Amino acid sequence: MAQSAADAPPGPGSDPADRSDGATWFGHPRQLARLFTTEMWERFGFYGMRALLTLYLAEHFLFNDTTTTGLYGGFTALVYLTPLIGGLIADRYLGSKRSVKFGAVMMALGYFTLCFGGQTATPYATIDGQRYEVQVDKSTEAKQQYVIDGDKRLAIKGNENGTVSLLAADGSVARNVDKGKFEAGADRSHFYTMVMLIALSMITVGNGFFKPNISTIVGSLYAPGDRRRDAGFTIFYMGINLGSLLSQLLCPWLAVAVGWWAGFGLAAVGMLCSWALIQFDGGRLDGYGEAPEQGGRDRSLIIYAASVLAVPLVWFLFVNLMNAPQAAAGSGIGGYLLALPLMGKLLFGTFLVSVPAILIWSYKVGSKIEFQMMLAASVLIIFNVVFWTLFEQAGSSLTLFANRNTDLSVFGWFTMTAGQTQFFNALFIVLLAPLFSIMWTGLAKRGLEPSIPVKFGVALAGVGIGFLALVWGSHYAAADFKVTIWWLALLYLIHSMAELCISPVGLSMITKLSIARIVGMMMGLWFLSISVAQYVAGMVAQVASVETVGGQVTNLKVSLDTYVNVFWTIGLVSIGIGVVLVVLSPVIKKWMHGVQ
Ligand code: GLN
Repeated sequence: MAQSAADAPPGPGSDPADRSDGATWFGHPRQLARLFTTEMWERFGFYGMRALLTLYLAEHFLFNDTTTTGLYGGFTALVYLTPLIGGLIADRYLGSKRSVKFGAVMMALGYFTLCFGGQTATPYATIDGQRYEVQVDKSTEAKQQYVIDGDKRLAIKGNENGTVSLLAADGSVARNVDKGKFEAGADRSHFYTMVMLIALSMITVGNGFFKPNISTIVGSLYAPGDRRRDAGFTIFYMGINLGSLLSQLLCPWLAVAVGWWAGFGLAAVGMLCSWALIQFDGGRLDGYGEAPEQGGRDRSLIIYAASVLAVPLVWFLFVNLMNAPQAAAGSGIGGYLLALPLMGKLLFGTFLVSVPAILIWSYKVGSKIEFQMMLAASVLIIFNVVFWTLFEQAGSSLTLFANRNTDLSVFGWFTMTAGQTQFFNALFIVLLAPLFSIMWTGLAKRGLEPSIPVKFGVALAGVGIGFLALVWGSHYAAADFKVTIWWLALLYLIHSMAELCISPVGLSMITKLSIARIVGMMMGLWFLSISVAQYVAGMVAQVASVETVGGQVTNLKVSLDTYVNVFWTIGLVSIGIGVVLVVLSPVIKKWMHGVQ
């Protein structure tokens, strides 16, 4: 994909260092402005939807935490997997611009489809094999759940030892249910569950066409060697986060104030704006992202039709994921891998085979230097999985944490919604990206800029430190087992600084380290590593699952303890891995042979 950016035919400009027609926008080819707004509105849609999705699954469909976070992980994994195919199709047949337009329409349709969710699922509980109606009192902050037993209404209280107490109106214990004898469930519409999964499938397919190719067009604005390229991508990254920032505030607000449909509806409107900006570009992007020469044969209709047909295929992967059996206890890693849903097998299998295969290939065909550079790239790609696994807790376990164990009041002035807390990341990126740019340039001038492996190591340690900061904050939780929102904001601040060490350098680093012939494949491997990370992130979030009834937890202390345990563990592991990377960095740096 990046390769095609560099190889793209020159635009209308005559100066080889500037492919545009000379007019500039902040010192960049003016086409960047249109790409900036197009991507801003696309990310507005995506992150607006993302701010709602986990809570929608947990509180509207009333899935338990394991299903919710597993589905979320599988969905985001596919969102990062489809760009491999979308990039390839654009390079060979459609061209970037047509791919972006098609992807935009698919994504907008996906968001609109999410607006149709039907009625909230009906919760029930099975106690000792007998089924009871469950009611949730949403009028109070505690959102207390009740079991209806004849004419009695008994409050459900989970205990730390896993038993459940049912309390009468006077607070006395009417019944104690042994561990494992209380099972929460929900009656949900099969039809609307299918509609939701089809919507997610459309979004994954659409994103595959949109996301890699809009970046390719940005790349094609600059001639190879144009020094403005990195700065151009930083500006573009600002657009991404500006869009997410706005929608992560607005969509969750609408979802609470009006209804889920309104939140998803706004995401869809944002996506339509994105589509309109590129569809009706007024000729601004003429000559950029055009389709490659195909000897007069236009395969676009076949591709569009095949992509629409891919939607039920993706839907099938989601259904398979949701119905995957748990591995039998004691079956070991082998049993665990066998029990993985198709999607997991596909992702892990591809990743675990392709990394060594590419290395063996480069050992055979490449020079020693080329092999070492490929080795460095592969090592960093593996560490990349760890980073995004932790970072991507934002949309799942951290949003559930915000919903359950966070006091969302902002100085007592107003209360944020749980989904809105995702906006902190985008806010900090917008604020810090320019500062980081200046800092790296300043350090580079003094010869002090850290090497890429060191930046990766710092990012890994940083993402771990972010979690430990939240764990530290949990010691100051109030009597209701909620921590103030500022601890979560601190986590996002640290995570955003970590993101700025890894994310902007990653893609360009791969293009520089890779053996030229397979740069597209290496780029694919990079996306695959993020995709695998999303899947593993879902698995980590599953470990942080908490017992819920009617979408609400049954014991806030148990839920706080569960989150803190998981965050503590992943925090330490990540810091450890970050330190290992920093220690290894001189060797990896040597293998990089001067690539910066
Ligand atoms: N926030 C950035 C985006 O949406 C990067 C996300 C990622 O690479 N995982 O483009």
